[in-house]
Amino acid sequence: MQYIDTYELARLGATVRGEAPLAQFARLTEGLPSQADAHAEWTITGEKDMHGQYFLHTWVRANPVLECQRCLQPFAWQMETGSRVQVVKSEANLDAEGDHDADDEDFIERIVGSARLDVRELIEDEIILSLPYVPKHDVCPSLPVPLVEDEPAPDSDSGKPSPFAILSQLKKN
Ligand SMILES: [Zn+2]
Repeated sequence: MQYIDTYELARLGATVRGEAPLAQFARLTEGLPSQADAHAEWTITGEKDMHGQYFLHTWVRANPVLECQRCLQPFAWQMETGSRVQVVKSEANLDAEGDHDADDEDFIERIVGSARLDVRELIEDEIILSLPYVPKHDVCPSLPVPLVEDEPAPDSDSGKPSPFAILSQLKKN
């Protein structure tokens, strides 16, 4: 487990680093294929701006194993993401600074600060938010066996007795 004091990190402008196997992220991996050796690495850097507001800059690189929605095979999806979240003091502050429109370019994610923030929770959220809605290989290495369209229809006039005919024959004996 790794915890940070968000206020302290922001005040100091400090950076923490970490890494962990993705198999340890239960919320992320629910419903995903086996994560094998997949892992995540991250840094979190605090910032206190000129207005005294606190921020965290997160950077995450991971290779979660996803199921390709085209060929249904698992594949390691390479991701790297970064974001800047504002640290506020209470739930009440989450929306305190006015309603933001979805297309507001100044919109910034907010989290409630903590003297003991679980870093993995934060990183797990970052990865989950980055997951593609429909994961797919760029190029599938092997497509599923295509449906055979040119197979000749079973020849009903071949003279072979049907299984049912054989069955009724057996019953008679
Ligand atoms: Zn595929």
